[in-house]
Amino acid sequence: LAAGALSLTAGCSGPGSPGESGGSGGSGETPLVGVAMPTTTSDRWIDDAENLRNQFESLGFDVSVEFAEDDPATQVEQLAAMVEAGADALVVGSVDGKALTGVLADAHAAGIPVVSYDRLIRDSKDIDYYASFDNARVGVLQGTALLTGLGILDASGAPTGVTGPFNVELFAGSPDDNNATVFYDGAMSVLRPYLDAGVLVVPSGQTDFESIATQAWSADEAAARMATLVPAYGEGRTLDGVLSPYDGISRAVLTAAASIGQQPVVTGQDAEIDSVKLIAQGTQYATVYKDTRQLAEVTVQMVQALLAGSEPEVNDTTSYDNGAKVVPSYLLAPQAVTQANYTKVLVDSGYYTAEEIR
Ligand code: BGC
Repeated sequence: LAAGALSLTAGCSGPGSPGESGGSGGSGETPLVGVAMPTTTSDRWIDDAENLRNQFESLGFDVSVEFAEDDPATQVEQLAAMVEAGADALVVGSVDGKALTGVLADAHAAGIPVVSYDRLIRDSKDIDYYASFDNARVGVLQGTALLTGLGILDASGAPTGVTGPFNVELFAGSPDDNNATVFYDGAMSVLRPYLDAGVLVVPSGQTDFESIATQAWSADEAAARMATLVPAYGEGRTLDGVLSPYDGISRAVLTAAASIGQQPVVTGQDAEIDSVKLIAQGTQYATVYKDTRQLAEVTVQMVQALLAGSEPEVNDTTSYDNGAKVVPSYLLAPQAVTQANYTKVLVDSGYYTAEEIR
């Protein structure tokens, strides 16, 4: 799953047969794509929506974007309205992956194809394709970064012989987001042997997904959990590392740790600008970069093909069983980012300018 494996580029061909297929067809001329995104509380989803809008519009599609602000019922209403408005295709970044079965059945009954965007929609046979990143790999990169930051692995991933023991705490994402358990399982596949060997110690004892999950990926909730954890640290006990699944949580963790004068090795995800600044300064150790411009390209390609009655390009037909079907997927490659490579990965690629990071 190499980055750049995508062989097609949005914009290399015209819109797929406008008006020929899809739902009731809006105006019947220009295809209308409904884009349902989970929230504006994190930069990435705003960027995702903009990337999708720009790419669809440059192909002559109409686009309707809605954000559900982390409320599953709001998202169901937004999707129902898109079906009602005669959308020709739906692109859905879900809030609660299990809450959409009914409205997506309605979409399919109206002949509207559905692409599950970034997060796998569960328990529904009415989704056609899944566009995402290799989410298990994201977790592996996060677990590996924690070990590298602690000096247990070297930059090439080889064990250094350092055995700690290191005190760490673990955070996971939102239980209603399928990705959260996939990230957790990926990270734990790397960390488990070191926990079993006592190289990593979790003083709180909280290691199972339920105890470390963070509803709605909320930084406030992560800060509240940190407030319960920090009293165990301080005089004589160092918090050496924290597995964090997402940059917003990472910054909450760093702030709480700083309140007791500590700076653990902290992982993250999304290469949010505020976290990239902390990485450049040496405060946050790592993030995982996912180029959402590429995710938009993959998604636009899928919708174009679906509306033209042809088969979208996929590169994975086994990994994502949503409980109702195995969903054909296109998975992009995530990339670990630390102080050592952020310039090369984020600036040289044009994702951020050097000025933005300063
Ligand atoms: C996405 C991550 C993001 C998280 C919180 C996940 O579903 O894959 O990129 O950090 O949601 O928004």
